[in-house]
Formats: sequence, C-alpha cells, structure tokens
Amino acid sequence: MNESKFKIVNTNLKGRSLVANKVIAIDEVILEEAPFVCSQFSWNKAYGYLACENCMLPLETAEQNVRRLAFDPSIILPFPESDPVIHLQQKFVQCQECSLKFCSTECLEEAKFKYHSIMCHALKPNQPFDSINEIWKKMHYPPETTSLLLILRIFAMVKLQPEYLNVFGEFCDRSKNDDLRICHKILGKKFSEQLSNLHQALIQLFQGEEILSRFLTVEGFTQLFTMIGTNSQGIGTSPFANWVRNVSELQSLSEKQSKELDEFIDTVYATFDNTVGTFLNNEGSGLYVTQSKINHSCKPNAEIRFPFSNSKLQVVALREIKPDEEICISYLDECQLDRSRYSRQKYLQENYLFLCDCEKCQEEVSQADETSDDDVNDGDDNMDTDDD
Ligand SMILES: [Zn+2]
Ligand SMILES: [Zn+2]
Ligand SMILES: [Zn+2]
Repeated sequence: MNESKFKIVNTNLKGRSLVANKVIAIDEVILEEAPFVCSQFSWNKAYGYLACENCMLPLETAEQNVRRLAFDPSIILPFPESDPVIHLQQKFVQCQECSLKFCSTECLEEAKFKYHSIMCHALKPNQPFDSINEIWKKMHYPPETTSLLLILRIFAMVKLQPEYLNVFGEFCDRSKNDDLRICHKILGKKFSEQLSNLHQALIQLFQGEEILSRFLTVEGFTQLFTMIGTNSQGIGTSPFANWVRNVSELQSLSEKQSKELDEFIDTVYATFDNTVGTFLNNEGSGLYVTQSKINHSCKPNAEIRFPFSNSKLQVVALREIKPDEEICISYLDECQLDRSRYSRQKYLQENYLFLCDCEKCQEEVSQADETSDDDVNDGDDNMDTDDD
C-alpha cells in the first residue's frame, strides 16, 4: 500500500521529504508503519501505566485504568464488552524469566528475537540496566520526551544483530545545525553535567563491546541522543479512551442512556483533571524508518494516528493532497501550533534543529518576534532540574 501513494525525494533545503504520487483524499491513510524500535518512557512505566513491553498495547482493562487514574477502586464501568482489552486478556503472557508482560506470545517472541534476550535479566531491580535507568529518571522528569530505555533497547538490538546498524543511516543524523549555530536543547549547557554522568555510566556498562564503541565516544553518544530527539515520534495508548470511542459508537442506546453515559464520561475526565492532570496515557516514543522522513509544517496536510492502540502508526491526510505536493505533519502539538511564529520557530529550532519556513510561517513573516503569552513558563519544561 505504502509505495504507490508517495515517493521519497531528496532536496538540498530540507533533506529527505515525502511527496504525494497521486491525489490523496481527505482522511485517506497515506502509510501504515510499525516502529523500528520503540519503548515506553521510564517514568510512565514506573508510575504503573501498564503496556505491552514490545508494542505498547494497554494491558489494563479500561475499568482498572480508570480506578488507578482516579484513585478510586469503587468505580464500575458500564458496557464492559466495549473494552477491547477484555477480549484480548486471555492472550496476555509474561516472560518466564523476568515477569515483564506482553500482549501475546507473538510479541514476546518478537521482543526476544530483537532485544529482550539481552535485556531480560539486566532490567531487574538493582541490575545494571535498572541502575542506569534510575540515573536517567533523576535527570528527566515528566513530561518525558525521550527515553533511555529506547537507547538501551537499541544497544541490545545492535548486539544481537549488528546489521541493524545500517538502519540508522535511514534517520536524519545531525546533532547541530552549523548554519543556524544551534545545538539540540537536550544537549545544551544546562544538562551537560547530567549527560556526562549518564555517558560515563553507559561506558562502564558496555565497556569492551566492540560493536557499540561508536556510540560510546562523546561524539557518538551526542549524535545518538540527538538522532533520537529529532527523529522519534511520541506514542500514546489509553484503555479508557478506547472504551470511550467504542461506547460512543454504540447504536442500541436510548437517548436517556446516551445522556447518562456522556455525563459519566465527563465526570471521569473531570476527576482525572484533579488526580493525574494530563498524564492519562501509556506514553513512549519510537523510531519509524519512513515516517521519520516526513517534514514539519505549522499548517500540516497530514497527521499521525494510532488506531490500533499500539505502536503501529498511520499517517492520515487532513485535506486533499495533490500529486507532487509535499506531505507534512506537525512536530508541535495543538497548543504549540496556536502560538506565535516566534514561539513555534524557537521550539522547532531547539528541539528539531531547523528554522521553519512553512506556508504559515511565511504568512506571518511580518509578525513581531514575540513570545506567546502562554510561553512564560516554557523555559525548560521538558527537562526540569533543581537549578531552575
Ligand atoms: Zn504487544
Ligand atoms: Zn524476560
Ligand atoms: Zn512553520
């Protein structure tokens, strides 16, 4: 399906881009892709957001999910048959050695084949991977943007199958943009000491691993970190949201039932506001070989969706796309997209190392270089540290 709808082209200005091959209709799926590698965020996992270790499919029922997030074990969810997890539960398995949970035997086998046979023991409490993950958690508080677990998984994959190294060539690989004299935010001055501690810990852990040596020099480590920062895609899955979507589609409800259901859902979300705020999803990030080549626009013609409740994504057209038109997604969330041109460009430069020159940015070229009002606390919200 993928190949016929778009082509990958190289341009001097943007590097690789995806360009439509034919007319793509609104809501049409442009491509569907499973990640090369993905992982749940460290804190998300530590807080008990339960997802398949391999594909991030939720492993909690919607009811368990609501009870946990609302801190209320008495909540009963109506229409339990609308919860997809209930129907999948009998397929869930645990790794017999480390007890980590997977959505199916297939996922466990795939994980073992790709990385888990190495990570299995090293991730147990007080084992090497766990210790380094603790260092990471102390330097990277929620909201999380990248994951050390992703790096460890990449190392394990390369150790098991060195040919994976070739796949890294597929991702945009620049740790700084010399033209713009900017450096990736996470590698800025503020985090240099913490990153250096993390780097030292990784060196100790993987000493003598010839195949990984290229990642363990200061330069290689910096590059890997930035490559993940600039190429990775956030992944979010939610058992409750899946249940909400399914019950909203129920045809058999009376008007009264529908109204009660809507009120129930509103109450649950209002409760979440007071308990966990916006931290509703099982969250992580992944690297996708083709999707990572899609450039950003502040007025995108496509968006990323996760319709399977796992890490497999779809790129879907937001409007009709004409042949030879570039396919663009937004690297900014909806709130960020509403900000001023200056704020958007600042964020994109710091996190993705480019100066946006999209249609919207061009339209707003006469706008003053001012920060949006809601940017006041935007300083370093991804990476809060004590010296704030
Ligand atoms: Zn799975
Ligand atoms: Zn295991
Ligand atoms: Zn723009």
